[in-house]
Amino acid sequence: MGETSGDQTFDVIVVGAGIMGSCAAYEAAKLGKSVLLLEQFDILHHLGSSHGESRTIRATYPEPYYPPLVLESARLWDEAQEAAGYRVLTTTPHLDIGPADNPSLLAAVSYCSPESLPVKVIDSDSQLSGHFSGTFRLPEGWVAVTTDLGGVIKPTKAVAMFQALALRHGAVIRDRTRVSEMKPDELAGIRISTADDRIFRASKCVVTVGAWMGKMIESVSGTKLPIHPLHTLICYWKINDGFEAAMSPAAGFPTFISYGDPFIYGTPSLEFPGLIKVALHAGQPCDPDLRDWTSGGGIASAAAVVAEWIEKVMPGRVETAGGPVMTQACMYSMTPDEDFVIDFLGGEFGRNVVIAGGFSGHGFKMAPAVGRMVTEMAFGGEAATAERIGVGMSMFSLRRFEQSPKGNNKDFVPHVSVHGGPN
Ligand SMILES: Cc1cc2nc3c(=O)[nH]c(=O)nc-3n(C[C@H](O)[C@H](O)[C@H](O)COP(=O)(O)OP(=O)(O)OC[C@H]3O[C@@H](n4cnc5c(N)ncnc54)[C@H](O)[C@@H]3O)c2cc1C
Repeated sequence: MGETSGDQTFDVIVVGAGIMGSCAAYEAAKLGKSVLLLEQFDILHHLGSSHGESRTIRATYPEPYYPPLVLESARLWDEAQEAAGYRVLTTTPHLDIGPADNPSLLAAVSYCSPESLPVKVIDSDSQLSGHFSGTFRLPEGWVAVTTDLGGVIKPTKAVAMFQALALRHGAVIRDRTRVSEMKPDELAGIRISTADDRIFRASKCVVTVGAWMGKMIESVSGTKLPIHPLHTLICYWKINDGFEAAMSPAAGFPTFISYGDPFIYGTPSLEFPGLIKVALHAGQPCDPDLRDWTSGGGIASAAAVVAEWIEKVMPGRVETAGGPVMTQACMYSMTPDEDFVIDFLGGEFGRNVVIAGGFSGHGFKMAPAVGRMVTEMAFGGEAATAERIGVGMSMFSLRRFEQSPKGNNKDFVPHVSVHGGPN
């Protein structure tokens, strides 16, 4: 604990108790640091990005820096589950499918190797019908790619697991505590004020506030970050009678992604018996504090696109006529290049504040590695894990947006589509 008075000073304050903050709090507490994890709502609330019933794991990525983070995280997921004594992850195969000339899909395959991630490429419909109980059809000109590394994480349970592990190592968690101000502090390093007029101090601060990142950083430092919240919807569909068991993880059904337009993702039937999650990787711009819960958030148009895709790629297996039988709202935190922001805030905060955000709808699976890296940055000045696994942190730097407002240069178009106005 630092030098200033009493129990209000910590080695590190983590702001935001979603999956990223919970993993960071666990990593710091495990190092023996005194940790305070602050959350504006109740812990395990459903108003951010880390709640719900399923998140996909996959290691096929069109950017070379994500597969090593996924593989490292897979190891850390196992370690955490072992420490907790229960599982939050169900392993499955993973299927990528899409037009054979899709640049993202081609790039994703190019970063797989027999040593790192063996893939099987399937380029005929008859071949694909021999897999996954014949559920998927391969449209003309498409290709399918399977890998063994897929899986479904239970997100709320996973957040609870990392919080429980952090508590076990001595972390303090305060929910219903909104951080309203952050300032450099001569004695401790950082001083944090909350909306209910409490003051906490720490040597270091890790900010993991998800879709609130842009708002919070602008209000505490004046810096405008290119991180924009999107309101998005998860759709569950009814599986046609008789096909339920074939679409379960027990039957080896995969997590899946369909590249191109529309970009679709899905998981095996797991969380709700007889239902399967198939959703559109898209959303509407929103203010995280002013979301419209009544308008449906573009459900009709998103559902129509997903239904059309299901009829083309999984015909006869899923009931599409009535639309999805259940939806859940969530938020993405988008950067222009869909790459994460993991960096020191700089300015008057120097290297005492680390920010981790902009996870752009694909961060959950890598949260254990992110939690470890931000802790290493806070206490050691650099992300040693990233260096060890060969991931350059410049891809996640704030500086990339000074060089180009679009961020990292890519040969393919963004995966997440933005539709409609604010929600
Ligand atoms: C529909 C959907 C599907 C997804 N699917 C996948 C997937 O299949 N695979 C995958 O890897 N990823 C997936 N993701 C992305 C993944 O869920 C996110 O990247 C991840 O949950 C982001 O976590 P976070 O901790 O950064 O944000 P959050 O979970 O939103 O946590 C931020 C926390 O900060 C708190 N906070 C904000 N401001 C303050 C403040 N001032 N004071 C105190 N607390 C504050 C918030 O209340 C919130 O609890 C998906 C996301 C969505 C929405």
